[in-house]
Amino acid sequence: MSTILIQNSNLLDIEKAEIIEGVNVLIEENKISELSDKEIKSSTATKIDARGKTLMPGLIDAHVHITATSVDLGRISNYPHSLTALRAGKLAEAMLMRGFTTIRDCTGADWGFHQAIEEDILKGPRLFFVGKALGPTGGHGDRRPKTYEGDICNCFQGTMHDSLTVDGVAEVQKAARRELRKGAHAIKIFASGGVASPDDPIFGLQFSEDEIKTVVNEAYSWGKYVLAHAYTTEAITRAVNCGVRTIEHGNLMDRNTAKLMKKKNVYLVPNLVTYEAMDLEGEKYGLPKVSLEKNKFVKDEGIVALDYAYSEGVKIGYGTDLLGELQVYQSREFILRQNVMPKSEILKSATLINAEIVNQKDQIGIIKEGALADLLLIEGNPLEDFSVFQDQGKYISLIMKNGKIYKNSLN
Ligand SMILES: [Zn+2]
Ligand SMILES: [Zn+2]
Repeated sequence: MSTILIQNSNLLDIEKAEIIEGVNVLIEENKISELSDKEIKSSTATKIDARGKTLMPGLIDAHVHITATSVDLGRISNYPHSLTALRAGKLAEAMLMRGFTTIRDCTGADWGFHQAIEEDILKGPRLFFVGKALGPTGGHGDRRPKTYEGDICNCFQGTMHDSLTVDGVAEVQKAARRELRKGAHAIKIFASGGVASPDDPIFGLQFSEDEIKTVVNEAYSWGKYVLAHAYTTEAITRAVNCGVRTIEHGNLMDRNTAKLMKKKNVYLVPNLVTYEAMDLEGEKYGLPKVSLEKNKFVKDEGIVALDYAYSEGVKIGYGTDLLGELQVYQSREFILRQNVMPKSEILKSATLINAEIVNQKDQIGIIKEGALADLLLIEGNPLEDFSVFQDQGKYISLIMKNGKIYKNSLN
């Protein structure tokens, strides 16, 4: 049995937003078996001296796309799946090296990636996935050029690799069941227009209420939940009233929508950084002009929506939604949210709340006895300064996931 003893760390208690000095942690196999400010004795454990370092749970990103290997999503269809998969693997590994020990992939990744990570063939964060998102004809997932009149092939081909275009209750039901059969941890739907899709209006409502309710019922049957890509007040209100559990983006919502979300215990997963990054560098990486314009439209509203949600007490997850080359900005979301939220609350989003979102409360996103050993040792104190998360994990001395060390620059 592998046993590791971390000694003399400064434990960041995220719930209380305080540092507890001189904490020792015993890790046996993949779990934290003992946590104490008194000496822990072990003759067999490998000892790590964490003096001066902050110990905290591994970070969780609740909105990523590892298979979005290019900012220009249309370009992905020019590559074989083998190349996309290998590139996706590199993107996942880079996330782990930034301290994200868990990710929720919100379209694209499937059980193959999940399995490869479980088997440790792929060095990546713990992966929760939705498989292919469901959207209607003409929706955010339907990227056929307007000149193309033919039916969509819903196989894993080209630009359709990450979504299924389905219409009507029967098709939607079958598609949801199909993704659940393949092990999806949740079902993702497109409930409004989007930015990266050039042809659908951002204010458009996607899917009928009957279609949304059908997906929610199917997910519920499997003990799973539905997440909805949605920007506007109307789209979010509809989704929430139909039983959707997490709202992705939410940039164009008003205060009353935040109140409704709070009342229904619905989570918001904003991703300010993706709009900033697309605005600054999208053109360089081939984001189509129409998407750049749409992006400008929603970008500055993201922080306003976050303010509504935070001040109304909505549970807010940490998500980034970055595409391809822009994924290097994953940890910048911490910085951007500070305009609205205190650091301690942003840390909760990336740990405790995201753990709830992926249904792993008390297992991940927390340092306590019995929890999975996903943890970081950091140079500096995140309660004081989020620069400790920047520069691609440079200030993270140790990264442990499931009891295994993936980075150790201490010795
Ligand atoms: Zn989206
Ligand atoms: Zn997304």
